[in-house]
Amino acid sequence: MRNKFLMMSNWMLPTRALIFSALFSLSSFLQADALLLSLQGVPAPGALLIGRAVPGVDVLLGDSLLTQTPDGHFVLGFGRDESGRKALTLRGKDQYGNRQEETHEFVLRAREWRMQRVEGVPQETVTPPPERLERIRKEGALVAAARRVSSSRRDFLTPFVWPATGPITGVYGSQRVYNGEPKNPHYGVDIAGPKGAPVIAPAGGKVTLVHPDMFYSGGTLLIDHGYGISSTFIHLSKVLVKEGQEVKRGELVGEIGASGRATGPHLDWRMNWFKERLDPQWFMSGEDLQAVQAGRPAGR
Ligand SMILES: [Zn+2]
Repeated sequence: MRNKFLMMSNWMLPTRALIFSALFSLSSFLQADALLLSLQGVPAPGALLIGRAVPGVDVLLGDSLLTQTPDGHFVLGFGRDESGRKALTLRGKDQYGNRQEETHEFVLRAREWRMQRVEGVPQETVTPPPERLERIRKEGALVAAARRVSSSRRDFLTPFVWPATGPITGVYGSQRVYNGEPKNPHYGVDIAGPKGAPVIAPAGGKVTLVHPDMFYSGGTLLIDHGYGISSTFIHLSKVLVKEGQEVKRGELVGEIGASGRATGPHLDWRMNWFKERLDPQWFMSGEDLQAVQAGRPAGR
């Protein structure tokens, strides 16, 4: 039984260099008989981490067993309000056939959330009238069901591209105050663009939900990238794909709009690991963000 403690702190921005430094600190203790072969990503609230283990070993985050691809890839994520120390335990036979158990501990990097005031959204979407509550509940259930989809697609292992380009006008985790009323935090990254501007698939996947006009999110699209990783796109003016359709990375899937609770046209891109909401901007690299804001295509 090996027990290693990884202190991950003082990362100010999720740039490529910093992600490499995380890999470096991990690789410094990965040994030939180790069960964990790699772990990519900076652990923090909202982070998505992709790991690789010796195929067939059990991988547990805390007490939860994680599913793996046949070649040992696994994925895990942390919600906005997660904090503190986490343990990743691997149990099974190493490449020499010897039984091993190893635990890798790390501390989630603390993040600060912005406060964002949004004025001018339709007041009905801030204090919905009672007759709208049933519709809101049904739409929430549709989205939750789409996020529960568990498939063995491996699209999440390919590099992602930004689904739209333009100024970032909203970030993950911010505390939102709509028309003066404090509401739930914001869980996506907002990319402003003109109505009708293209939205492309950030990675390959299968369309699990299309809705032309949900109460809060307007034109809504969900794409499953496999192993619980999905993308949600909201406020779309048009969805150009159908439920059940397979899409390729870079394929046109919709058009930017301002439907639902929005003040102007933008794409709100959300990433999920099952019910955990992740930060797309944290997953993509800092230098790409500059390209996106300057209107250039970029990828991870
Ligand atoms: Zn948004």
